[in-house]
Amino acid sequence: MPTRNIRKVLIANRGEIAVRIIRTLKKLGITSVAVYSDADKGALHTKIADEAYYIGPSNPLKSYLNVDAIIEAVKKSSADAVHPGYGFLAESYKLAKAVEDIGVIWIGPPSKVMERLESKTYLRSTASRLGIPVVPGSLKPVSKDEALKIAINIGFPVLLKADKGGGGKGIRKVSNPEELSVVFDSASREALLAFGSSDLYVEKYLDRPRHIEIQVLMDLYGNVVTLGERECSIQRRYQKIIEEAPSPVVDRKTREYLSQMASLIVREVGCLPACTVEFLRDNEGNFYISEINKRIQVEHPVTEMLTGVDIIEQQIRIMSGEQLSIKSVLEFNGVAIEARIYAEDPDNNFMPSPGVINYLEIPSIDNIRIDHALEIGTKIPPYYDPLIAKVIAKGENRLEAIERLKFALESFKINGIKTNISFIIKIIESPDFKKGEIDTQLVERKFLRENKEQIQ
Ligand code: ADP
Ligand code: ADP
Ligand code: MG
Repeated sequence: MPTRNIRKVLIANRGEIAVRIIRTLKKLGITSVAVYSDADKGALHTKIADEAYYIGPSNPLKSYLNVDAIIEAVKKSSADAVHPGYGFLAESYKLAKAVEDIGVIWIGPPSKVMERLESKTYLRSTASRLGIPVVPGSLKPVSKDEALKIAINIGFPVLLKADKGGGGKGIRKVSNPEELSVVFDSASREALLAFGSSDLYVEKYLDRPRHIEIQVLMDLYGNVVTLGERECSIQRRYQKIIEEAPSPVVDRKTREYLSQMASLIVREVGCLPACTVEFLRDNEGNFYISEINKRIQVEHPVTEMLTGVDIIEQQIRIMSGEQLSIKSVLEFNGVAIEARIYAEDPDNNFMPSPGVINYLEIPSIDNIRIDHALEIGTKIPPYYDPLIAKVIAKGENRLEAIERLKFALESFKINGIKTNISFIIKIIESPDFKKGEIDTQLVERKFLRENKEQIQ
């Protein structure tokens, strides 16, 4: 395949990830094109990009989620590639197809691959065929009766999951047959509304699992490189809050095993240029593949801090036809931990807290990276995901990384909106977190209860 020049990239996104992508484009000498809605007039990503195009009203359905509006901006700007970031249309095969159809490079998997990967049961059945363990449950979408049969067979509690769900949404825990019968109908209605498909499947509910994922890169010639794992077990409502690498429970042998599994599935389904294979680890140390994310992930800086690889740069190089020239990582040097900063109020049920930033101190500390799109005067609109920044700390060991992260979070001053910074500090200071004894249900079990008691 000949090399294709990428000289101008449109970023179909906003906020910290748009700024992050533009930074790499500048480094590579590629022209950057931002898009913005009414709510984002004057936002940082529009100012640092070489060009910026208006794509519509604040309502994301009419702008950042509007395929026609994005395509129009691509045509107007004569961009030769589109980077979708994460969220919004990043996993939309429709946008990928529309981009391909006008002869522009989509910095993501081919639209056909994306269409197949929309279905989580496609991944489950493919993995299963390859001999990769999946969480016990159904390998295809099921009716209510089938769900019941399978649930009785694998044992309650189970999870009902939307086949096309994502972002921690569309997952419902069910503890007995009566509950399943009721929840099935509402979950399937909700799935239809949220994801355009009512398909559900059943999975065994794992008690206190750990979420561990492998970062994979694949070029157009089928060369695959893995960059080790990230553990993302600190979650609230199935959504990640704190991520780290290496995982305290992954040794070199396990890393090799997980990397092998991840490479196998990525090659099979053709997921390039960068994707992440997520696994759940049960109490006994068994790993099960749970899904593939076919885009850059929120937590990619954790891997970048440790490996020095710029994953966005690799995505662009791969899509321009270059062969991968970096090596797989099987040994990490040091530890990196990321905390997601949200504009939300931990003392009021984590309600989003939009507003205007009227005071801001962003610390500049060695071995700390802060990805954000903030300035004094920045409006945090109510229309979009409340993630406003990511603080990533690197240390020689885990305790050093934790201490450094804490120092950075304490030095991060922001007024005009509420944030979850104090909540994160509470978690990383806790003995459980310090010992690395974490699982995806830890926050719910230990920190939300405490939190409620404090309010009462
Ligand atoms: P990552 O696994 O990269 O950390 P998340 O699962 O937290 O990413 O999702 C990244 C962003 O994309 C979040 O803002 C999330 O709300 C959004 N997102 C991901 N998938 C979907 C989806 N299918 N529908 C709606 N939002 C989604
Ligand atoms: P999404 O596409 O929404 O990210 P995932 O399948 O990756 O969905 O699941 C998100 C999170 O939900 C996981 O990281 C984990 O915390 C929890 N989860 C998913 N499947 C199970 C399971 N079978 N048992 C227990 N928890 C699960
Ligand atoms: Mg996931």
